[in-house]
Amino acid sequence: MSRTEQAYAELIRRVKDYNLLSSCGAVLGWDERTYMPHDGSAHRAEQMALVARLTHEMATAPRVGELLAEVEGSPLVGDQDGDAAANVREVRRGYQRAVKLPPDLVEELARTTTRAQQVWQEARAANDFATFRPWLEKIVALKRREAEAIGYQASPYDALLDEYEPGATAAEITRVFAGLRDDLVPLVRAILGSAKKAPHDILEREYPIEPQRAFGEGAAKAIGFDFAAGRLDVTTHPFCSGIGPGDCRITTRYNPRHFNEAFFGILHEAGHGIYEQGLPADQFGTPLGSACSLGIHESQSRLWENQVGRGRPFWEHFFPKAKVVFPAALGDVSLGQWLFAINDVRPSFIRVEADEATYNMHIILRFELEQALIAGDLKPADAPAAWNEKLTQFFGLTPTTDALGCLQDIHWSMGGLGYFPTYTLGNLYAAQLMEAARRDLGDLDGDFRRGEFGRLKGWLNEKVHRPGQRWRAGELCRRVTGRPLSHKPLIAYLRGKYGPLYDI
Ligand code: ZN
Repeated sequence: MSRTEQAYAELIRRVKDYNLLSSCGAVLGWDERTYMPHDGSAHRAEQMALVARLTHEMATAPRVGELLAEVEGSPLVGDQDGDAAANVREVRRGYQRAVKLPPDLVEELARTTTRAQQVWQEARAANDFATFRPWLEKIVALKRREAEAIGYQASPYDALLDEYEPGATAAEITRVFAGLRDDLVPLVRAILGSAKKAPHDILEREYPIEPQRAFGEGAAKAIGFDFAAGRLDVTTHPFCSGIGPGDCRITTRYNPRHFNEAFFGILHEAGHGIYEQGLPADQFGTPLGSACSLGIHESQSRLWENQVGRGRPFWEHFFPKAKVVFPAALGDVSLGQWLFAINDVRPSFIRVEADEATYNMHIILRFELEQALIAGDLKPADAPAAWNEKLTQFFGLTPTTDALGCLQDIHWSMGGLGYFPTYTLGNLYAAQLMEAARRDLGDLDGDFRRGEFGRLKGWLNEKVHRPGQRWRAGELCRRVTGRPLSHKPLIAYLRGKYGPLYDI
């Protein structure tokens, strides 16, 4: 073994070790949100803080920097598409981010956001922006300091975005989102102008929990979530936690008076889970064994939840089964009525309740405001008015309270500025990947009608999951679909779906 090879081997060993430790934290986190008894929370917080501190120390050890310096520029990383090049590139990225942040800033952010989340919760409940305002001001100031410490080329927002979507820039996202917005606004207007209205009351009938669980689990299994390597449990806030090879935990919540929450939630989290289960196990702990970006992760959940799970072929298979499982709710419902109900478009104030068309407008609104906040063009004190103005411009709706406006999401109180765009990136990547899958695989709808999802899952495993972080999201998209990310596939998909439903 050459000196460089030895350095690379030690680097990988260290990276695997701290990710292994971090995955122990993930088990603790999953347990905290599912089965931990109430009184265990103080001790659990200590355990998790220790794991986080040790992981951070290992990840920022000066030795990691020495090893990176030794390997970089060597023939070992000469092949840009090779394993070592990708691993070294992404370990460098994480290392740089971690060591560039001054410890006092990290500490202040942690302290501020912990407290700000409590204040935000109370402020939202009391519809009281004034209480939250000083905290938002502090967080924006700290995030601007963070962006300066990390560094950026064009915009400070890029430095924040990079945490969730490595390599993406605000300029690039602005370009794609602008195209999306230009096409989406008239589409939503046309839908709202249609005389046809979805029979959404069908979804609010009685759906007993136990049959919901069995039906949802059956669908998750059918699309390819492996229950020998995963679990489905109940939590208030659903999530997916990929703990490691052979162990991926997803959660949902059941509402006996609303079908969508659990069922589409399960498909969504199972989509995340199928991605985690599809990462190469032998590369666990290295960038090659890790998810590409939050946008790509979200594309995998949206693809199964929406592109597949809200489509006619999927329900040609599943609807007759649903009628057997929920005879009281669905006895008098036709497949056509069902499809219209689950694809209902109605503008709302609340992002998490939004349909596939209006959801992205909620994200574009937040993306535009966040950039203005970070650039210093918008004062936190003016955020509520700016929010309401944009929502009126997009939907013709004006929130009557800040709880329905800029206080609705937890993200800002957590310091998660830069996170929101990944949701719409997920929708865009999902549509473009699905278009490519249909081109490569031919009649996928025929598969879905027979309840077969293996060819699509296999394609995603090969094209999207197995590469891990070999390429950044934009490059992965170009390689798999033959084109850079565009808003056109999503618009084509939405028009194809809503045109016949709303006669537009
Ligand atoms: Zn998701």
